[in-house]
Order: sequence, then structure tokens, then C-alpha cells
Amino acid sequence: MSDIYDVIVIGSGPAGYVAAIRASQLGLKTLCIEKFGTENTPDLGGTCLNVGCIPSKTLLESSYKYAQAKSLDVHGVIYKDLSFDLTTMQARKDKIVQNLTNGVDSLFKLNKVESLQGHASLISKEKVRVIFDDGSARELDTKNIIIATGSKPINLTNIGDGKENIVSSKESLSFSEVPKELAVIGAGVIGLELASIWTRLGSNVTILEAANNFLPSVDKSISRQALKIFQKQGLDIQLDSNVLEADSSNDQVKIKYHHGSIEKELLVDKLIVAVGRRPLIEGLFLEELDIGLDDSGHIKVNDFCQTKVSNVYAVGDVVRGPMLAHKASEEGIMVAERIAGKEVQVNYMTIPSVIYTHPEIAWAGITEEQAIEKNIDVSVGSFPFLVSGRAMASGDTEGMVKVIINKTNDLILGIHVMGNSAADIVQQGVIVMNSEIKAEDISETVFSHPSLSEALHEAILSAKGKAIHINNRKKR
Ligand code: FAD
Ligand code: NAD
Repeated sequence: MSDIYDVIVIGSGPAGYVAAIRASQLGLKTLCIEKFGTENTPDLGGTCLNVGCIPSKTLLESSYKYAQAKSLDVHGVIYKDLSFDLTTMQARKDKIVQNLTNGVDSLFKLNKVESLQGHASLISKEKVRVIFDDGSARELDTKNIIIATGSKPINLTNIGDGKENIVSSKESLSFSEVPKELAVIGAGVIGLELASIWTRLGSNVTILEAANNFLPSVDKSISRQALKIFQKQGLDIQLDSNVLEADSSNDQVKIKYHHGSIEKELLVDKLIVAVGRRPLIEGLFLEELDIGLDDSGHIKVNDFCQTKVSNVYAVGDVVRGPMLAHKASEEGIMVAERIAGKEVQVNYMTIPSVIYTHPEIAWAGITEEQAIEKNIDVSVGSFPFLVSGRAMASGDTEGMVKVIINKTNDLILGIHVMGNSAADIVQQGVIVMNSEIKAEDISETVFSHPSLSEALHEAILSAKGKAIHINNRKKR
């Protein structure tokens, strides 16, 4: 058998490991190289499984269960002497992470994907060098290369990164004590999710956000409501705040910042920096290989994730588009299939986004504001959970479902949800948008009662002036 691989995948996150499995399933001799791990054994799964989606969602669930238990008396459920044990919470999270990363290892074995632990780099368009932890190196030949090296947190130079008590999302998911006073720089997805975890467990949380609008990519009516809800939950979200310096000494961090034009100071036990992530490409290829980067430092690719060098592909966080695990995986599958000769593509228009706060915020497609900007003639419908029987039964009535429908062809262009199970409701909208099912067909579909999905049905009915359980909104 030839020693030449059909595909070498660099990185084992949701982009890389999925690409490797699919490539192998399609009969391609595939190797996945991951630098993270010990003693020649890669820890597979990338940011998502090890320090991202999974540990954060696990702690969000645990902390939410605690927060919920504190307020169940309205249901007539009384907990006495309620408390939590952070060590158990963290151990449970670590176990789930370990199970999932081991699961990827098993999937590799099942699908005959080879793996290696080491730092990989391209030394030509058909040769990859791996440097192992002991300093030794190996060069491997391949017909195709898939770069899936992901991203890393953006550092703020004026903050003194690496100083004790100034941490990124990774370290903040492993705090062994609940910080009494906690500050977060950045009110984006990571900032809000981490702030939710720690405020539920008792931290006083201040979020310093440079922008003066909250969650700009979220539908405006939802982001406005969300800001009020999060403030009511105790998060002190200070927009228009620019940190000047952060000094870590005596176990505390002193933060100086401008809030508007006013200079302020804040003393906290921990500071989390969550101001975005940037593509990880250091030491990955020589300049003469001419892979090409775009203006934001991502590897430049076409719609099919192919770089300027035709047998070199790049997928996931290292390329343009939202930094999301499911987007990364779909790109990985697309590239594996295209290498195997299949004509597939990713529908970038319907990638769902979710913020796992409570209430959850989820959306896909365009917002009402974007429809107006694009001059698209739309009808808009919404339905608040406040009047949903199922939401009332669970005592979770915050939020709404909102849909944007193209009046010309009756196709749904956007769905925006805040509330319990927002991610699952949006997913129904994504299926509809991807399959180009007309809104009229959904309006004639029977939804189970009582369910939260009825809110999607009623939002579509309301866009058509046919809602039963609310006043029909004046159609645009
Ligand atoms: P990564 O997952 O970053 O994987 C890249 C891998 O490549 C890493 O394991 C890295 O060690 C390896 N690597 C890098 N360079 C080399 C090299 N030269 N040689 C060998 N190996 C290398 N997304 C969601 O969709 N939902 C969520 O709920 C969610 N929550 C998140 C929470 C947090 C706290 C964070 C930080 C991120 C979250 N994300 C979430 C984003 C998600 O984790 C990323 O979009 C996703 O992991 C990107 O996948 P990837 O495969 O492109 O990169
Ligand atoms: P983000 O881009 O979502 O938010 C960063 C925030 O920091 C922005 O609001 C920005 O205005 C603010 N900011 C930037 N510089 C600042 C400064 N100097 N001072 C104060 N504020 C500043 O990025 P993130 O929250 O770090 O997340 C990174 C990526 O990870 C995102 O692209 C996201 O898609 C992904 N992620 C997804 C999920 C999820 O899907 N639930 C969860 C976590 C992370």
C-alpha cells in the first residue's frame, strides 16, 4: 500500500475531525494531526470539545439548574438549605469533555482514520512536517491537505495578558472558586454565556463592552428586550466602555476604563477577556507557498473552502464566516466530499446562531432591519411567549418568536427567537428555509398543543394577518 495519504487534516476540532471521518468513509487514506495532547496521544475535538462549546454548555446547564431550584417555590416546589458544590460541577464537566474526546478517538478507529499528535506545518503543497513534543520530526506525503487549525482568543495589549487573575474563556471554565467580584470585557457570545454561569453561582458580574449597541447582529426588538432581562438577572452591562488598563496585584485586578467620557475604576477578583477570537495560523506554512490570507487574517478560500493552491483546503474558524462548530463541521464534510468528487456545497444563508443564556437567543437568516436595508418587500410576524400556554405552564414566558417572510415568493428569510428552547425552534425555521417550504404551507401545518413550537406557527400566522391568539400585527 502506498505511503502517500489522500488527505492530511491538520487540527482535530469540529472542522478537522468531521472532515477526516467523512474522507475516510469515502475511501480516502486519511491522517489527522493534532498538536494538543500528551505522550504522542492526541486529545481530539479541538476548542469546541475541550475548552469551548461542551464545557461551557455543561456549566451553563449545572448553574441554571441551581438558579432554577432557587425559584421553584412558585411551582410549589420547596428546596430547603439549597447549595452547590463547584468541585463536583467541575468534575462532571471534565468527565463529559473526556467522554466526548475519547468518543472522537473511537470514531477515528471505527472509520480507520489515522491520527498523530504533534505540531503540523506545510512545507510544500504535498508535504506536511510534524514536529513531536520530544523535538523529533517526520515528513509526510499527501495528495490533499485540509487546514482546520481553528482560532485563539484575541489579546488586549493594554490588559497585561497572562497576569494572574486576568484570564480567557478557557481558564474561566475551570475556576475552582466562585469569584466574588467578576468583570468580563466583551458582551459578545462568550462574555454573556460566561457571565451567566458565574452570576448564577453568586458572582457580582460587571461586563464592559466597547460598542454602544448591545448584540448588534441580533434582531433589534430581541436585543433590546434581552438587555433588560440580563440586567434584571443582575448583570451590570456597561456599554460604551473602553478599558484603559488592568493591573493585577494582591490577588485582585484593578481596572481603569472610560465609560463614555467618564473615567471609572473597578476592583475585581477575576477579569475575563472575551473580545473575540482570531484565526490560528502561526508557523503553519511558509510565505512562498502563497496560500493567501484575507484582510482579517483568515486563510483566503473560495465558496468551496479551496485556497489559491488547488489541493490545499481550509475549513472552520481559520476561514471567513461565523466561528461556529456546526459551520466548521459542514465545511469539513463539504471539502471531504468534494475531494472525493462530489458536487456539494454549504448553504451559508441559513447557518443558525445560538446564545445559550437564559432565555436562549437564536436566529438564522436575515433580520427585519437587513430586509429593509436590502429593499426586500417583507411581512413580519411575531408571537410572544407571554401568551403561550406551554410557556406559562413552565413559568418561562420571556421572549418571542419573530419571522421575516418575503412577500414576493412567500419564502421565510429569517427567524429570530428568544426564549426557552430557542435553538430548537430556530432549527425548525432552518429546515423550512433550507427546503424552501412556503410560509403558507407552514401556516397550514398542525402543531402539537401545548408546545413552544406553536409560537412559530402563530408568528407565521400573524405575518399573514391570521393569528388566533394575539392581535394581528399591522402588516408591512
Ligand atoms: P478548533 O475547534 O479550534 O480546532 C482546531 C484544532 O487544531 C485545535 O485542537 C488545535 O490544537 C489544532 N491545531 C492548531 N494548529 C495546529 C497545528 N499547526 N498542528 C496540529 N494541530 C493544530 N460554537 C458553537 O457552534 N456553539 C457553541 O456553543 C460554542 N461555544 C463556544 C464556547 C467557547 C468558550 C468558545 C471559545 C467557543 C465556542 N464555540 C461554539 C466556537 C467553536 O468552539 C468553534 O467555532 C469551533 O471549535 C471551530 O472549530 P475548528 O475545528 O475550526 O477549530
Ligand atoms: P464576539 O465577537 O461574539 O464578542 C466580542 C465582544 O467584545 C463584542 O461585543 C465586541 O464589541 C467586544 N469588544 C471587542 N473589543 C473590545 C474592547 N477592547 N473592550 C470592550 N469590548 C470589546 O466574540 P466572543 O464572544 O469572544 O466569541 C468568539 C467567537 O466564539 C464568536 O465568533 C462566536 O461565534 C464563538 N462562540 C459561539 C458560541 C455559541 O455559538 N453559543 C459561544 C461562544 C463562542
